[in-house]
Amino acid sequence: MERVKIKTTTGESEVLCDEKFENIGKYLPDTSVFIITDKNVETHYKKRFPEYPVYSVKPGEKSKTVQVAADICKWLLEMGADRKSFLLGIGGGVVCDIAGFAASVFMRGIDFGFVATSLLAQVDASVGGKNGVNLDGYKNIVGTFNQPKFVLCDANMLKTLPKEEFINGFAEIVKHALIADADMFDYIVKNADEMRSCNKKVLEYLVLKSVKIKAEIVMADEREKNVRRKLNLGHTWGHAIEKVAGISHGKAVSIGLAYAALVSLEKQLLSKKDLDRIVSLLKTLELPISFREYTSEATIIFNAMIKDKKKTDDSIDFVLMKGIGSVVVEKIQINELKNY
Ligand code: ADP
Ligand code: ZN
Repeated sequence: MERVKIKTTTGESEVLCDEKFENIGKYLPDTSVFIITDKNVETHYKKRFPEYPVYSVKPGEKSKTVQVAADICKWLLEMGADRKSFLLGIGGGVVCDIAGFAASVFMRGIDFGFVATSLLAQVDASVGGKNGVNLDGYKNIVGTFNQPKFVLCDANMLKTLPKEEFINGFAEIVKHALIADADMFDYIVKNADEMRSCNKKVLEYLVLKSVKIKAEIVMADEREKNVRRKLNLGHTWGHAIEKVAGISHGKAVSIGLAYAALVSLEKQLLSKKDLDRIVSLLKTLELPISFREYTSEATIIFNAMIKDKKKTDDSIDFVLMKGIGSVVVEKIQINELKNY
């Protein structure tokens, strides 16, 4: 087990990498604890939950609403929760987002922690302290920066994850390697088959690496004023595809990474050889590399991307790859981006 500490202005958090779910009791406070989960996770793990009241939401992004957060707050009141109570989210990114948000606003904020049960949640949602819900189709528009006390990551829990969801997590792992660690990229290339077959040691190693990379960036810039923007690699184009084609976040990020690699090649920051290595790795991991697999609406996606990003003049901030393992944020003219 390895603990990764995250210290920011909004508090201190700890990611417990490679810790067993059975040990959760060690990290819970002596006060009253309430559990938030979703129906799928409940079905698989309810028997192993610590013995506290459970509120279960419908699985999926649709549960990330102000209304669901309000329902949780009402339930907490009915159950007699107070300022000292502790909220434990057990689930994927959606559960972590809702539980973190509800805990942040209930009685002006109570302590909370997560058991991250999806690969995406372990490598991404576990670090950063962003909690939020959607509003009228706009993602994470209502939310807070607030650190969980801990995030427990147990690779054994990934075995029950549907294959699609499992593969989605690979995209953010590859993203972290591309941003900060060429050796990690090589490791992924070498161990791609083990990843796909859910090799516990390989996954634990990659979760730990991802958590460390993200933790370092978040500690340097919690509120995304400068270096945290690096984490948006693949997300500018990716978010637009996710919205227009309605595909999962992981798949959209994968397509976004391929697109960012192509733009980086055009900008002469990335070699053709490295572009080919990136694309080939994404394919090996069964991730898509082009939006054309899902839609032919290139113009609609492009317009969604421009609308989504805060543009300054006629350009948008774009994260480019400087070789493998390093990135730069550059302004790119919208007209120029159209060519790619
Ligand atoms: P994310 O991919 O951001 O983590 P979700 O929280 O929606 O998004 O999780 C993805 C899906 O996987 C959901 O349907 C959720 O119920 C399910 N899920 C999460 N963790 C597990 C698990 N360990 N076993 C089985 N299903 C899981
Ligand atoms: Zn993402």
